[in-house]
Amino acid sequence: MMIQKNGRNTHCESISEEQWQAIITNNSSYDGQFFYAVKTTGIFCRPSCKSRPPRIENVRTFQTVTHALTENFLPCKRCKPTGQRLPDHEWVSTVTDYIDRNYMEALTLENLAEICHGSPYHLHRTFKRIKEMTPVEYIQIIRMNKAKEYLIETDKSISDIGQQIGIRNIPYFITLFKKMTGFTPLTYRQSNTKQ
Ligand SMILES: [Zn+2]
Repeated sequence: MMIQKNGRNTHCESISEEQWQAIITNNSSYDGQFFYAVKTTGIFCRPSCKSRPPRIENVRTFQTVTHALTENFLPCKRCKPTGQRLPDHEWVSTVTDYIDRNYMEALTLENLAEICHGSPYHLHRTFKRIKEMTPVEYIQIIRMNKAKEYLIETDKSISDIGQQIGIRNIPYFITLFKKMTGFTPLTYRQSNTKQ
């Protein structure tokens, strides 16, 4: 992985090599000296956090907790950079935001938990308590809503739409769509695009 130290690469200008090393080695002697946020998840951590190392181009660093909070980053549930527990509803809204922006990726309970800094078990339970559905059910709803949009507003093929909503297994896409809407994708398109 390359780190530009001359500051020309705007994505990396806020992080030094020393800080990056502290992050990837979970070095607790840097705790309190700086915090780092991951732009793709909207979460910030202490250097010692045991979360999966982020991609360097997505990292921003902050001198203080307040600065990270004013930029609308949320404290990590695992390393608790503010010293307080992140309220569950805030954590769950980080997770739903992430799903809303990444529904086309391969999402599982396990990788969501990793990305959003919690255990799969805890994520499943907390999400269900707050949203009254599981993370996987939420992902399916977002994907089916997106599929409906594509079916009505575009003439993309069913398999293209499956790919674009993150379901590469087309028979599975058709079955799931039918289970959730009562229509197959094709009949849904026909009945909603008739003049
Ligand atoms: Zn953390």
